Amino acid sequence: MERTLVIIKPDAVKAKHVGDIISIYENNGLSIENMKMMYANEELLKKHYEEHTDKSFYPSLVKFILSGKIVVMEIMGEDAVDKVREINGVTDSMKAEKGTVRNLYGTDIQQNAVHGSANSDDAKRELDIWSR
Ligand code: ATP
Ligand code: MG
Repeated sequence: MERTLVIIKPDAVKAKHVGDIISIYENNGLSIENMKMMYANEELLKKHYEEHTDKSFYPSLVKFILSGKIVVMEIMGEDAVDKVREINGVTDSMKAEKGTVRNLYGTDIQQNAVHGSANSDDAKRELDIWSR
């Protein structure tokens, strides 16, 4: 069993897709172990997106994630990290495979509905950041 972090981003929360997105994970055999709705802040995002802080899109990404409430979830299951990434689809919603969360509910490369940890080390690091 593996644990991973999923964030439902403000675009999907505003569009009322929270329930549908959670159902997709559950229907794929994953369990929601912990969940909270909250506003992010710059300090949390700086830690969470540490690999992206010096990229050109970072300021715009932060503005987007701070634009509304998010849902932070700890998801558990066999191969949870990769399974969630597969269910989410590729970063750019326009290129995401049919039926993936980003294909169904994302808009573009930034407003892409969800976050999923990239690997098991990142999952542990991110779960720690968001559980404080
Ligand atoms: P996530 O980490 O959210 O699961 P990802 O691993 O597919 O997504 P990353 O490369 O880690 O993608 O980028 C983190 C987030 O930054 C993306 O989900 C997206 O919201 C935003 N992003 C990535 N690339 C761009 C870009 N070129 N322009 C604008 N926003 C971007
Ligand atoms: Mg990532």
